[in-house]
Amino acid sequence: MRRPFIAGNWKMHKTNSEAAEMVRELVNLVQGVDDVDIAICAPATALSTINELVDNTNVALGAENMFWKEEGAYTGEISPLMLKDVGCEYVTLGHSERREYFEETDEEVNKKVKAALKHEIKPIICVGETLEEKEAGETKEKVKSQVLNALSDVDSNNLAIITIAYEPIWAIGTGESATAEDANEVIKYIRNVLSNEFGDVADQMRIQYGGSVKPHNIAEFMETSDIDGALVGSASLEAQSFAEIAKFS
Ligand code: 13P
Repeated sequence: MRRPFIAGNWKMHKTNSEAAEMVRELVNLVQGVDDVDIAICAPATALSTINELVDNTNVALGAENMFWKEEGAYTGEISPLMLKDVGCEYVTLGHSERREYFEETDEEVNKKVKAALKHEIKPIICVGETLEEKEAGETKEKVKSQVLNALSDVDSNNLAIITIAYEPIWAIGTGESATAEDANEVIKYIRNVLSNEFGDVADQMRIQYGGSVKPHNIAEFMETSDIDGALVGSASLEAQSFAEIAKFS
């Protein structure tokens, strides 16, 4: 019922020419894969180049962040209109690195989610607990509040195009992923939260797992009952490994 969704998050990696090289290779490797949605979320400087390269392919384009205003005196920021204009279908919002290093709050994430939806850019909202919170048994509480705050006052007609990425912070970039069973339990819980709050539309919302997803472990996650895909960091930087993940089935 929900189409699997594999997205790469390049973070602050790749110049424009490096991006072009990788994407040229990727579109060849995933040509004909039609049972999964595939996207690359890239730095702003590479979006325009990638947009041309993915035209008429099965690879979609996303940004990694966005400001909520359409234009104005906000030096250094990038607006939804600008992302739309360079062909972004998706934008990751509230990644833990943005929350940690740039002090993004739930309230700001919520403003960005609403702005993205207004411009028909599909948000990938990132949530997840720290190691400390996990050890204190606070995972569910944390993800519930992040999810509900991010979706506060969002028009329920727009919810179906939203993806939630459950990314436990201790699993990001560490090579130590959550077990498929644990990730599935949290993701199932997130779907329950969505369903209690918003009703049937929760069944249409995709929920990904992220955190040290690699070609060798993607199948375990995809075999679970509730995980709809993955948000992939370092293994998305290389065309071969990202294509292997996208072709998990
Ligand atoms: P890694 O796959 O490098 O652990 O990164 C995950 C991530 O943060 C994706 O947004």
